[in-house]
Amino acid sequence: MIPLVEPALDGNELNYLKECIGNTDVAGRGRFINCFEAELAKYVGARYIVACSSGTAALHVAMRLAGAKPGKLVAVSDFTFIASANAVSYTGADLLLVDSESRSFNMNTDLLYDEVTRRARRGARIPSVIEVVHVLGHPAWIEPLLALQNEYGILVVEDAAESLGASWTSGQCQGRRVGSVGNISCFSFNGNKIITTGGGGALATDCQETAYSARHLISQAKISVSEYLHDVIGYNYRLSNLAAAVGLAQLEVLPGIVSAKRSIAEHYINSLSDLPVADPPREPWAEPTFWLYSALLHAHSGTPDGLVDSLAMKGIEARRLWPPLHVQQPYTAVERIGGEVSEKIYRRGFSLPSAARMPQTAQEYVISAVRDYLVNI
Ligand SMILES: *Cc1c(COP(=O)(O)O)cnc(C)c1O
Repeated sequence: MIPLVEPALDGNELNYLKECIGNTDVAGRGRFINCFEAELAKYVGARYIVACSSGTAALHVAMRLAGAKPGKLVAVSDFTFIASANAVSYTGADLLLVDSESRSFNMNTDLLYDEVTRRARRGARIPSVIEVVHVLGHPAWIEPLLALQNEYGILVVEDAAESLGASWTSGQCQGRRVGSVGNISCFSFNGNKIITTGGGGALATDCQETAYSARHLISQAKISVSEYLHDVIGYNYRLSNLAAAVGLAQLEVLPGIVSAKRSIAEHYINSLSDLPVADPPREPWAEPTFWLYSALLHAHSGTPDGLVDSLAMKGIEARRLWPPLHVQQPYTAVERIGGEVSEKIYRRGFSLPSAARMPQTAQEYVISAVRDYLVNI
């Protein structure tokens, strides 16, 4: 089977794990956690990184620190993996789902800007936090959100779980990587993400107090080193030193993984250009990572299901994109703005195998299988 994604664990992972096990520092503290956080901060361009047990955990803590709670409204991208919304729901805050724009698949931030402006004018409730997701390795257009932050004091939380390494190439955030712009940002190191710790995440911020509070919350809010005393209800959300050892090795190979992903996408784009498939998102103001090559079939050119099934019969794991949150059972009744763009992306979208270490021959095999399906429908 040619997998959709697969971690690239050919760096120092085993060496660091051996060192970690050798000195028995496997749990909640140790040199690898500190190094991993410092190196990730450098790479992302954030002042502070707090390593967490998952991306979802990092988002939960981010939401809590951003003040999400019952009675507050949090705007969230409609087209995303469900964890983005669940992290908001854990706090009891209300969600406002925001439709995508069709070019980058990300939140239509202009639409949200207009909606917030209208609501503010008539004195209606506006979001206190915006959680913007950078889906599939491509940054969201963030300028309107920075304007809302400026005009109404709305906090911006970036869900950069899928887009570590992606950056903006123009506008106010020119030259900055995703995860370095929001008040708080989150990453995931789950096994399918661009780098992995076997399960893990991180919270990024430039605010010292936020970083301090995050560290406090993920360690059961313990206030004393010597006694079991706690000042609020915290969580057990720390990343283990064992996982951080893998993460540090992964950071060393991250630039290579990003360039491999970009070459794989480039090759798909060039090889499928005569077929009824739109190119994956690549806005002129962004440098995406192409974490997962994902594109839309033209209307009347077969269905993503048909494509995914026909590839599966040839031992290739392709995948459809997510149904938007507003059709997922827990979120059908949630307030939303926008039209049907996220649904269109779902109806026509698919992802092809994009593992960084995918052999050239495997990619050629996938390309010919995609051609076979699309030429014969
Ligand atoms: C993977 C992912 C998460 C959650 O990360 P975990 O580490 O799996 O908890 C959150 N948001 C998005 C967009 C993701 O893709």
